[in-house]
Amino acid sequence: MEIRTVGIVGAGLMGSGIAEVCARSGLRTRVAEAGEELLATGRQRVEKSLERGRLGGKLSDDDVERISGQLSFSTDLDELGDCDLVVEAIVERLPDKVELFGRLDHIVPEHGILSTNTSSLPIMEIARATHRPDRVIGTHFFNPAPVMKLLEVVRTIATSDQTLAETRALGEKLGKRVIVAQDRGGFIVNLLLIPFLNNAVRLYESGFATKDDIDEGMRLGCGHPMGPLQLLDYIGLDTALFVCDALYEEYAIRDYAAPPLLKRMVAAGYLGRKTGRGFYTYDAEQQR
Ligand code: NAD
Repeated sequence: MEIRTVGIVGAGLMGSGIAEVCARSGLRTRVAEAGEELLATGRQRVEKSLERGRLGGKLSDDDVERISGQLSFSTDLDELGDCDLVVEAIVERLPDKVELFGRLDHIVPEHGILSTNTSSLPIMEIARATHRPDRVIGTHFFNPAPVMKLLEVVRTIATSDQTLAETRALGEKLGKRVIVAQDRGGFIVNLLLIPFLNNAVRLYESGFATKDDIDEGMRLGCGHPMGPLQLLDYIGLDTALFVCDALYEEYAIRDYAAPPLLKRMVAAGYLGRKTGRGFYTYDAEQQR
């Protein structure tokens, strides 16, 4: 089956980026959000991103018009009734995702693939809420979705070979490099990344080195585009904490346990770039 029409549920940071990627690739893209205001914010996020592309010379006026024409926005989940694939990008809470997949199972046509953008939750638990676990898969995009080249496709023990092949083909159509991971906490990238980020926080909180030296060490010594504490601010400290907790729950290995400083910063509301303060501070323009 060729995927021509996709649905995106959740027009937050990730959902709006994924919607843009799909529409840019010529897919009919239907976005669903929980409420009118959130829907409008998500829509504006896509429009601003396209406008940045136009101003930067990467998109012509015609491109913007064509891409915008592929997108539709609604608060009614029933609008996804003709989708070949739906990407769920709502809040990272298992009960919410389970409930949503139960509903999508009744709305999306039988041939449709139901995919989740979860970073850390067990996908088999989500698939169980449907009558089509063989058509459920993980599509883990990276932030910002229009820029980052990687798509981690995650198959559960119930995902069919056909679902995997069709999802991989879609990823390639979207211009992504696809890697395939198993349905185990952290998949490939976070499994390797989280211990690294946690160790950087532990180095900093122990007073072993300054934050600037830790970040500069990894930037200039290892060629990373961002140091680990800068990257944590970019990801969002609350999101990072959630992933640490999920990985620690899965493996009970200390490397994944959230460092106390990370927990305290989240408790204080120092969530990184999005709140203007994390390991570093950010002005209003840097917060978007
Ligand atoms: P976000 O909070 O920016 O967006 C989530 C959106 O989903 C919100 O706008 C919310 O209103 C909406 N929503 C919640 N419940 C809904 C429902 N039942 N129906 C429709 N919309 C609903 O979060 P985000 O950062 O975009 O993350 C979304 C998913 O992507 C999570 O599973 C997260 O783990 C994953 N993810 C995040 C990142 C990242 O760097 N932030 C990277 C990869 C994957």
